[in-house]
Amino acid sequence: MKLPIVALCGRPNVGKSTLFNRLTRSRAALVHDLPGMTRDRSYGRVTCLDEAGEAEEVFQLVDTGGLDFGGDDIITRGITRIAEGAMEEAHVLLLMVDAHDGWNPVDAEIAARIRAKGKPAILVVNKIDGVRGGSPDGAFYELGFDEIHVLSASHGDGVPELLAAIRARLPFHRTPEEAEAHDPAEELRFAVIGRPNVGKSSLVNKLLGYERSLVSDVAGTTRDTVDTVFQAEDRIYRLIDTAGIRRKGKTTEGAEKLSILKAKQAMARADVSLLLVDAVEGITHQDAVIAGYAHEAGAAVIIVVNKWDLVAKDTYTSLAMEDRIRQDLGFLQHAPMIFLSAMTGQRVTKLFPLIHDVAEAHARRVPTGRLNAFLRDAVAAFSPPAVDGKLPKLYFMTQVGTRPPSFVVITNTDRELHFSYLRYLENRLREQFGYRGTPIRIACRRRG
Ligand code: GDP
Ligand code: GDP
Repeated sequence: MKLPIVALCGRPNVGKSTLFNRLTRSRAALVHDLPGMTRDRSYGRVTCLDEAGEAEEVFQLVDTGGLDFGGDDIITRGITRIAEGAMEEAHVLLLMVDAHDGWNPVDAEIAARIRAKGKPAILVVNKIDGVRGGSPDGAFYELGFDEIHVLSASHGDGVPELLAAIRARLPFHRTPEEAEAHDPAEELRFAVIGRPNVGKSSLVNKLLGYERSLVSDVAGTTRDTVDTVFQAEDRIYRLIDTAGIRRKGKTTEGAEKLSILKAKQAMARADVSLLLVDAVEGITHQDAVIAGYAHEAGAAVIIVVNKWDLVAKDTYTSLAMEDRIRQDLGFLQHAPMIFLSAMTGQRVTKLFPLIHDVAEAHARRVPTGRLNAFLRDAVAAFSPPAVDGKLPKLYFMTQVGTRPPSFVVITNTDRELHFSYLRYLENRLREQFGYRGTPIRIACRRRG
């Protein structure tokens, strides 16, 4: 069976082989006290116990053999090339640093290369047994890793926790056969939409290139869309791709019209739509048109600000840009915004948890009991203004639909509540129940 790959990176002598041997319980990699002695890549299979207590191979570990950018001789360059290859094929990357030696500029250089891969990555701070006070150099925390494990590879402290963290980040916990036989109802369907040239194909390639665990390519509903079903972590995703339309539209205008049409079709089928915009060009009329359709369709949206690598961060902070984009895409105030680079891969994997949150909000159902308590509090805090000289009474509230969440408030009048009051109710609903990325609909009905 094909196992996911975890690459162990780090400069020479930080303790990679020691950890490798501990995890694979092998002597496959030689441990040397001299830097650069573990020259070639070593592969080992890591076995864990499954729920039934049976030994199960869960991933392959690759010892990259030590990245050192110091020397420029043929051997050093060769080792670096081999390590780069291992990083390219791996699903999870580990950077090991030496707590006893402390921070080293080569660590930062390797960290940058790891970040550029846009894959799940864990910082492993080794040799903590050799550090007085047991607390590692603070500079390690600035290497840009979300997940940090402090351990001792030779003593074993902290190794089980690291193993659990690696497992949580592996792309597939199911066998390919199990994945192939999945129930389509458990698919999380997301669409990548946006006008030509914002980077849709690049993002799709990055997402799929990083997740090698493809299940299958299946034809979409129209001849020229292709859905891709894949798994990441423990979820099955269906990616509805609208890229590749430039070839069809001969003129720029044609391509833009087509991109809008495609976006509409894709949004209708997706649980969540990633609306890509260009960080350099900003919001154009086309973007706003697509955003408007998303709002009309009740689609759940994540605004993906792509090409973030091209933005000079000293002139545009992400906050300033977020403000501007929100102004230009008026309808999508509720949509979370992520700044990434489809090209370098920066923050691309952060999309998965975001897609989850938004899909969950889009499909969430709140019981009537909780809604009535909510309505009581909302009215007590701020009662609805008179409509035609009459004060409306709001009796109760119930959810009548999902995707998007839709509510009805039962009142004593045929007239609609003032839109500002509906806005007020919406904002309070969002405050209380946190509907990230999804529109909310509220209608009124007279008690019959
Ligand atoms: P590699 O070059 O990164 O593969 O490093 P090795 O695994 O060969 O280890 C280099 C040296 O560090 C060896 O002398 C190991 O015994 C030592 N070492 C590895 N892990 C630890 C640890 O957790 N604590 C201490 N004190 N020494 C360690
Ligand atoms: P699509 O038409 O939306 O599918 O866009 P493409 O993926 O074909 O990208 C259009 C152009 O933008 C190509 O030249 C890409 O290389 C470039 N591009 C896409 N994403 C990025 C990015 O994150 N950073 C940079 N610098 N260029 C990008």
